[in-house]
Amino acid sequence: MSQPDNDLLQRFLFEQSDVRGEIVSLQDSYQAVLANHKKSNQRLPAAIDTLLGEFLSAAALLSATLKFDGIITLQAKPKDTGALDVIMADCTRHNNLRAVARYDASKAPTDEHSCDFRSLFDGGYLVITIDPAKGERYQSVVRIEHDSLSDCLNTYFQQSEQLPTRIWLAADGHRASGLLLQALPVQLQSLEQRSELWQHLCLLADTLKADEQVALSHHQQLHRLFHQETLQFFEPTALQFSCTCSRVRTASMLISLGEAEITAILEEQASIEVACEFCHYVYQFSPEQAAQLFINEVPTLH
Ligand SMILES: [Zn+2]
Repeated sequence: MSQPDNDLLQRFLFEQSDVRGEIVSLQDSYQAVLANHKKSNQRLPAAIDTLLGEFLSAAALLSATLKFDGIITLQAKPKDTGALDVIMADCTRHNNLRAVARYDASKAPTDEHSCDFRSLFDGGYLVITIDPAKGERYQSVVRIEHDSLSDCLNTYFQQSEQLPTRIWLAADGHRASGLLLQALPVQLQSLEQRSELWQHLCLLADTLKADEQVALSHHQQLHRLFHQETLQFFEPTALQFSCTCSRVRTASMLISLGEAEITAILEEQASIEVACEFCHYVYQFSPEQAAQLFINEVPTLH
């Protein structure tokens, strides 16, 4: 049995047809995200570890559908904030992935409380933000009334009048994987032929089990589903955990808090320390550096 793929995204086409696909598997990047939560002593329930993997896979697959440079962010918020405040993941055009679950175990009703997608988010919202490097960012909001992130995203695809698109996500706390199929504007097939093929491929993909997604290589998964079709493969792309935080962005955040707030913090402590919630890098500002922020209105880098 061949080794499952690690931190790779593979695009493919069904030959002589107007349907394309993407398949992704994450391990090192997913483990880096889970390790970051452990660093901050956040004990996440296993079900939230799983969800983080699904969010990462979805962000990678959606990012690969963008035709321009930018960042795509998926953010799910429960209707009422309890132990869980938010889960979010983003992916840049350069395949840098990161994710975070803001979870406070001390607010959890019991150790055994239900942490599946619907129990956590029912009645809440999934927000999909596309932030192009050039141009306006835009957001789509889906009310969550689904059993899984895959189902919720499938509703998003239906609502956003894009090309017919479906997604299948899986994770197990160790590895995460996802499959995306998309019908293209008709070119090689008639609309009827494409619809028929589309239905057929989706039915096949519906037979893929979560444990197969995380355990099998891309080749094995695609062979298992589509061995009767001829697939054309593109060069796979590597993904990695990487955070887009910076000292400049942290400085802008401090400026937005206002000088009075910063002065109040500095009366309590010797310097300002801001830890990135994604990677836990700590940005430190001395009182002099903090004061400088409000003199120049331009963040200092020294
Ligand atoms: Zn960071």
